Amino acid sequence: METFDFIIVGAGSAGCLLADALSADGQKTVLLLEAGGDERRFWIKTPIGYGKTFFDARVNWKFSTQPDPGLAGRNSYWPRGKVLGGSSSINAMVYCRGLPNDYDDWHQAGNPGWSWKDVAPVFARLEKRVRPDGSIQASAATGLDGMGALYVSDREPQYHPIKRFFIAGAQEAGLPLTSDMNGAAPEGVGAYQTNTYRGLRFSSADAFLRPALRRPKVKLQTHALVHRVLLQDRRATGVEYEVNGQVVQASARLEVLLCAGAVNSPKLLQLSGIGPAALLQKHGLPVVHDNPFVGAGLQDHLGINYTYRATQPTLNGVLGSWSGRLAAGLRYVLLRSGPLSLSVNQMGGMVKSSAQLDRPDVQLYFTPVSYSTEQVGKRQLLKPDPYPGFIIGFNPCRPLSTGHIEIASARPQDDPLIRPHYLSAPQDIAGVLAGARLIGQLHSTPSMRQLIVGQPEIDLANASDAQILDDFRARSGTVYHPCGTCRMAPANQGGVVDAQLRVHGVQALRVVDASIFPNITSANTHAPTVMVAAQAARYIQQTYPKDPRP
Ligand SMILES: Cc1cc2nc3c(=O)[nH]c(=O)nc-3n(C[C@H](O)[C@H](O)[C@H](O)COP(=O)(O)OP(=O)(O)OC[C@H]3O[C@@H](n4cnc5c(N)ncnc54)[C@H](O)[C@@H]3O)c2cc1C
Repeated sequence: METFDFIIVGAGSAGCLLADALSADGQKTVLLLEAGGDERRFWIKTPIGYGKTFFDARVNWKFSTQPDPGLAGRNSYWPRGKVLGGSSSINAMVYCRGLPNDYDDWHQAGNPGWSWKDVAPVFARLEKRVRPDGSIQASAATGLDGMGALYVSDREPQYHPIKRFFIAGAQEAGLPLTSDMNGAAPEGVGAYQTNTYRGLRFSSADAFLRPALRRPKVKLQTHALVHRVLLQDRRATGVEYEVNGQVVQASARLEVLLCAGAVNSPKLLQLSGIGPAALLQKHGLPVVHDNPFVGAGLQDHLGINYTYRATQPTLNGVLGSWSGRLAAGLRYVLLRSGPLSLSVNQMGGMVKSSAQLDRPDVQLYFTPVSYSTEQVGKRQLLKPDPYPGFIIGFNPCRPLSTGHIEIASARPQDDPLIRPHYLSAPQDIAGVLAGARLIGQLHSTPSMRQLIVGQPEIDLANASDAQILDDFRARSGTVYHPCGTCRMAPANQGGVVDAQLRVHGVQALRVVDASIFPNITSANTHAPTVMVAAQAARYIQQTYPKDPRP
């Protein structure tokens, strides 16, 4: 059996950063185990390609939830990255830290060290902000040099010109504008920044893993499905995993770090005997530590798109014809610019549905392309509607509904059962109505009326609450942000990990990924997950400092 100082399970948004940080002293040995394979594929590196990887089983776990009462009994399709970089290799690349009060709430939930004051400098140190002209911007908010490893690019000048109608409409609807959603004034409508660089996706693997792999003490094993954590006397001593049809073990001298994401980290804890005793016994697993909260606390953003026909040309005209695609393809290959180099989620922001609120409650997306005729099981970003169209979407920022994830069997190869319990909290119904009414206001503004042809498919300004809700239950879906399944909180307050992400009830085991969020953040979850990993790395480095001897 090989022995390493650290074993990291999962090379996703969080795991890649840990591999880099924990090997940086040149002394510690690290084994990184990843179920998927190499991420250097054309449709991963090309930003528009995330339409292609969305259903591609070669790089995607392709989970599905159980039928959900909140979605009128529908299942929800949940893509997750199964490849180096994890979900950061197949996501929509939007980089959004969220709002300061998201993290103040983490702190309030019994987690010292996680308030906005604590985490803002961590974000700033991670990021390398790129201006539209390619120059690097120092982080004004903190005075730090903005020279972290993670490229965060402002591509606003390249976004489709119909954005001007959306911006003007937002102002007419009384919404503030922001020039930097990751800056000092994040609230408002503006352009999304993305994890791209020179026209290519810039995932966690690009930022952290590739540099880490240059160090001889980092071993990466791809196509390695971890089955369980090995525990002796309630201490993690290693992992068991399967590679090339063989089941092997590796041992960890210092710690095992689970970075398998919000679906698979709780599954791995449960398979290892840490979880609700009744569930583990039902599947014949020994109970090492009975914790009913492992897999509970699941949160996600639930969103919906409203599609409009447009009076102006949109990206449909470019992506929907051979000549348009050829021109866009040439522009991409020669200049690494144009629509293929961008996310389709171009404009949006975190806004208040009512000026009386003390924090934004709705996240908006404005997409200059439309797909009314999407086929089941396909997401063809290069086959839009054959007429000019665009989409406005929203999701409530801070839903309160919680669901859970539990193993379906004791077999590591089986997907867990995912029960999101969407819209089970009454406040979330109010949140949906507030968001939909805001879109109704927005599409009724003079500027947006100039852009929209005819009547929208559902007139959100005048529809009844029941009509809005029925439509939402019938058509909404995940915004791909599951989190909270190994919640960070004190043990007597529903926690699975403590404020240093150590698993309650056992030694030498941490969870470091989106599953530890005490509450979902107000926007996209990649940026907060990377921040979580950076904080964890600091805690781990403090626990095992560099040996001063050469
Ligand atoms: C389609 C899509 C679009 C999204 N769009 C955005 C966006 O635009 N902006 C944004 O901020 N967020 C977005 N997200 C969400 C964001 O990418 C995730 O929240 C974030 O990547 C989660 O990071 P993680 O480290 O928790 O998990 P992941 O990045 O998913 O990493 C987990 C890794 O662990 C591996 N793994 C799991 N189980 C095992 C096992 N048993 N053995 C070995 N390896 C294992 C997985 O294969 C994976 O590589 C999107 C997600 C998806 C799927």
